Amino acid sequence: MTVPSYPYEAPASQALFDRAAAVTPGGVNSPVRAFRAVGGTPRFMVSGSGPYLTDADGREYVDLVCSWGPMILGHSRPEVVAAVQEAVARGTSFGTPGEGEVALAEEMVARIAPLEQVRLVSSGTEATMSAIRLARGFTRRAKVVKFAGCYHGHVDSLLASAGSGVATFALPDTPGVTGAQAGDTIVLPYNDLDAVRTAFEAHPGEIACVITEASPGNMGVVPPLPGFNQGLKDLCAQHGALYVSDEVMTGFRTSKAGWFGVDGVVPDLMTFGKVMGGGFPAAAFGGRADVMAHLAPAGPVYQAGTLSGNPVATAAGLAQLRLLDDAAYEKLNAASTRLQGLIGEALTKEGVAHTVQSASNMFSVFFSETPVRDYEDAKAAESFRFTAFFHSMLASGVYLPPSAFESWFLSTAHDDAALERVADALPAAARAAAGAKAAA
Ligand code: PLP
Repeated sequence: MTVPSYPYEAPASQALFDRAAAVTPGGVNSPVRAFRAVGGTPRFMVSGSGPYLTDADGREYVDLVCSWGPMILGHSRPEVVAAVQEAVARGTSFGTPGEGEVALAEEMVARIAPLEQVRLVSSGTEATMSAIRLARGFTRRAKVVKFAGCYHGHVDSLLASAGSGVATFALPDTPGVTGAQAGDTIVLPYNDLDAVRTAFEAHPGEIACVITEASPGNMGVVPPLPGFNQGLKDLCAQHGALYVSDEVMTGFRTSKAGWFGVDGVVPDLMTFGKVMGGGFPAAAFGGRADVMAHLAPAGPVYQAGTLSGNPVATAAGLAQLRLLDDAAYEKLNAASTRLQGLIGEALTKEGVAHTVQSASNMFSVFFSETPVRDYEDAKAAESFRFTAFFHSMLASGVYLPPSAFESWFLSTAHDDAALERVADALPAAARAAAGAKAAA
């Protein structure tokens, strides 16, 4: 990829990246951090405060990634830091049950009516992997329906995605996932209930569950069309399958009760991560008590974790959730609406075709004139414009997700001063997007 040259450098980040590349594949511990989609030097961050991040070169950025969602109160929120310090002082891991994990589970269950029981794990990937195993164990069926463009972590069977076509048996999307692991995954186009109906008819009694992002944010923000999630739930109920709503990204982000709090569709199982961990590795899956009763040690479906319910992670998550009241979501939604408006204005002024799509306070910008309803639409957008837009914003001190196919995230710490910095950066970025050319 040709990396556009911009009048700024990041020598300290580059030096760290060079060191990292010698000891870590691609120099990063999660691929998207490497900036491969946009080119250039990934910024190595050294500290965060409120809506700002500071990199190794001492440059400050308004952070519109928020650690990909978790930092919903901003960085280093004093109450969360204090809860963590207090927990750390008492010990970092016991390998026994503890009160913190009970309190976190109680807080989650109290907020989300269909969440009758919850099991804590350490990552969103573990949550979806375990939910799928439980769905299969409960229904004694093998097949899983997922949607193209939805990401559920790097679970072998869920990495599969396939081209268009109804009830396609997915081929593995990555070396290392065998045909057998992917072969029970049926990948369907998002927002297409007919495709789901057809899949159930083609595989009577075989589908254990349908897993969907409650409102997708991993192909950019592509909310469910009205009635889509309810339709999924109804089809699952009709065919004896479980409806698994992946709220790892939307959970406690899109409302106090996540996306369930927005659309009210009752899942059989749900998965969580990100916000509930307060910036630490904590995640969960849960739902109907009769289904959860199949989980070890109550039932036969095995699942476990050395650090599950870790006392420091649960203290951080609980402190964060307790601060997320109605006022916090009002603030987030207002900031998000304002920012979406500013972005739209700047791009319109430069005549750049775009669509800003949102799901509550999550949003993303597609360089497309028409709304994006599924992965094919998302891929058809003029994403080459994003690269120019991204680098201009970065040069102006605004840190966006380094990929066109990601949601942007705000925090309650994004105040007027932070939003004004973003507003100041937008005109040049819109001009850069307007002038961008597709690779020949
Ligand atoms: N599910 C969704 C909807 C996600 O957005 C993600 C991560 O971005 C995951 C699952 C996986 O979570 P983790 O990265 O914690 O494994």
